[in-house]
Amino acid sequence: MTAERSLEDRYGANNYDPLPVVLVRGEGVFVWDSLGRRYLDMMSAYSAVSHGHCNPRLVRVLTDQAQKLAVVSRAFYTDQLGPFLSLACELTRMDRALPMNTGTEAVETALKAARKWACVHKGVPDGQSEIIACQGNFHGRSIAIVGLSSEPQYRRGFGPYPPGLKIIPYGDADALAQAVTVRTAAFLVEPIQGEGGIVLPPEGYLARCAEICRERNILFLVDEVQTGLGRTGRFLACDYEGVKPDGLILGKALGGGLLPVSLFLAREQLMHVFGPGDHGSTFGGNPLAAAVGLEALKIIVEEGLAERSAELGREFLDALRSIRSPLIRSVRGRGLFIGIEIQSERVTGRMVCERLLDAGILSKETHKTVIRLAPPLIIRADQLRDAVDRIHRVFDALDQGVRKAS
Ligand SMILES: *Cc1c(COP(=O)(O)O)cnc(C)c1O
Repeated sequence: MTAERSLEDRYGANNYDPLPVVLVRGEGVFVWDSLGRRYLDMMSAYSAVSHGHCNPRLVRVLTDQAQKLAVVSRAFYTDQLGPFLSLACELTRMDRALPMNTGTEAVETALKAARKWACVHKGVPDGQSEIIACQGNFHGRSIAIVGLSSEPQYRRGFGPYPPGLKIIPYGDADALAQAVTVRTAAFLVEPIQGEGGIVLPPEGYLARCAEICRERNILFLVDEVQTGLGRTGRFLACDYEGVKPDGLILGKALGGGLLPVSLFLAREQLMHVFGPGDHGSTFGGNPLAAAVGLEALKIIVEEGLAERSAELGREFLDALRSIRSPLIRSVRGRGLFIGIEIQSERVTGRMVCERLLDAGILSKETHKTVIRLAPPLIIRADQLRDAVDRIHRVFDALDQGVRKAS
């Protein structure tokens, strides 16, 4: 136990259970621990580090801007925010964008916008609108958002929750059609459930949901905090089905792995519900964040990160699927957003991640049985092949261990 670890354990709240490694440095797809050991980062901070650790272009923009102007609040215009919002709207084909910091805040912004839209445009009495979300979702950790969660651990002890929140099964468009009432404001959905375990809905699901939302006059809100910005092989995961949401939420990789930067983007009529003073954030859209966010978007486009993700993801998925192990139930994903689901009474996701750590690979299990593999999108094909070899060896060793013990 190192001094750093014991201080964190002694003084930190106990809301995380980190793997036993103390990271001190990162560069590109690698991070190093306090003993100088190098690891391939296959977690990328839940996709926040798609551009790689300490990306030189982003660090340059960050340090230049930090020496010019960093935080002034939205009480004033700055030279940085406009260009950032403008490029974000252009790339997503949205009309307007509202900057926040974390994904949670941008989801909250979407929910507030939707409720107000239902009042203003549908005539739903204030306090009576409904929001529909999906089983297995992850949209953040605020009280309203965990009110939408179906995960008992995220909810237990944190109630009461706001009323008007409804859960339907994921991947079932008919369930959406049945759940809509005259009071429904919006349907909020992830194109692929990330924290839920890299769960892909059936093909055509998003397009069908978008159609139902249009027909029934409810908002189609898509949370692409994790799936967006090239992660799944397209700029947005929605692009696979050619759907354009009414409201879109981006975060994580938008901060280039350096800062928390998020956006709620929307069509004109939806964003128009906010007037001066209705909503805001002290740090949201600050010039430092805007400069980094703008550069993060430019890099994704100029370096073709979405295309890389599509191409390398396909090879990586095929290579992972060729690993024969009785411990693996399924390997699934899209682009460089992949989950390995394990099946065993004796082996947990945590154990696999500890073995991967020993093998020089950082990952994290989600929902106990799914190992998430989501490396920085700048990763090279040979680095992915090396990862497959290491992952293969870890599963072989675990399987042998299970056999010996039985
Ligand atoms: C991580 C995540 C969030 C929350 O983002 P934070 O920055 O942690 O608040 C919301 N939605 C999805 C889909 C996420 O993966």
